Amino acid sequence: MIRLLFALLITTTIFASQVERFRWKNGETYLVFLEKHKLPLKSLYYNLDKDDQRLTEEMRAGIHGQILKNGKGEILQVLLPLNNELQIHIYRVKNKYNFEAIPIISTTKTEAFATKIISSPNYTIMKKTGSRKLAQIFTANFRHSLNFKNDMRNGDNLVMIYKQKYRLGQPFSMPILDAAMIEMRHKKHYIYLNDDKRYYDEKGHEVEGFLLARPVRAARISSYFTKRRYHPILHKWKAHLGIDYAARRGTPIHAAGSGTISWAARMGTYGNLVKIRHADGYETRYAHMKSFRRGIYRGKHVKKGQVIGYVGTTGRSTGPHLHFELRKHGRAVNPLRVVQVTTKKLKGKKYKAFVKLKKNYDENIALHLENQTPYKKVGCYENMCYIHRLHAQSL
Ligand SMILES: [Zn+2]
Repeated sequence: MIRLLFALLITTTIFASQVERFRWKNGETYLVFLEKHKLPLKSLYYNLDKDDQRLTEEMRAGIHGQILKNGKGEILQVLLPLNNELQIHIYRVKNKYNFEAIPIISTTKTEAFATKIISSPNYTIMKKTGSRKLAQIFTANFRHSLNFKNDMRNGDNLVMIYKQKYRLGQPFSMPILDAAMIEMRHKKHYIYLNDDKRYYDEKGHEVEGFLLARPVRAARISSYFTKRRYHPILHKWKAHLGIDYAARRGTPIHAAGSGTISWAARMGTYGNLVKIRHADGYETRYAHMKSFRRGIYRGKHVKKGQVIGYVGTTGRSTGPHLHFELRKHGRAVNPLRVVQVTTKKLKGKKYKAFVKLKKNYDENIALHLENQTPYKKVGCYENMCYIHRLHAQSL
């Protein structure tokens, strides 16, 4: 179905200008795109710095781009979303085309629904919402604590509360699960997203994951994962596709999970870099290392927790830290969201704060359960003002 839409072109006419909406084709590259639209390769690619050139490689099939043309059919602006947060903006000023990376304008809505379970939760969510992503975030986050195979009964309930981003009236990017409840043989099980961005069960136990939370022990996080941040030195919008752990030079770095080393050498701005390939298409990257541990080389198998190298500041780095990345099938994902530590129980103040948050969610969940809140597709029509804004910029 989605494949059929690849060629779909929506044309909207505003004043004399036209906005064309299109889907990025499978296998299309940024350079091919420029050539196809007779846009200058020099100013929009070859003259860019390495970081911006690397950004253009992030284009993925299926994303929606937009082209704004004037009455004569000349391109005034192009918007190419790279990920959920950042987009390439090509714009014309006095017949010259410019390139910049700018944030994506989006709105986030909190949504919820309740449903009776038919066979598996995965099947039920898919059937009720038509959203594979909703099914994924539900099962991914409960997987570690519950076994859905043997304990399901027809008539058990399920409630999901989650955040969904919208851009141009369409949901986009992975929704984020805030809280969820599932009944198994009428017994209720809960998970909650805590303020520390980790999931906990109703007793305040962290939901266990397959990777170590911290590749550097006792280190402070100096920079979080974001697909959009303003770079203080480069003075432009960039993504930070990993987590930075500030630590003293020489601090040991541990493999976050078992796997095979696929890279242990220098690599551009990463400096000394180790990549480890894990199961299920996951890969972790450890950058700016001072040095590798002896015996760490390509093809070598490492165990979770094993020391692979030492904190340094090689490559583009302002001080000793580990830049840690987690990728799934090549795409960067937030390690704090997927990587979950071995069970940790909240205590003291943190536990009290969690109980408060939990109480709030519990009340909401109970309400949705009572009302059997149906899943609703939200229609929002912010695209018009967005296009106006786009148009205004071109004047
Ligand atoms: Zn970093």
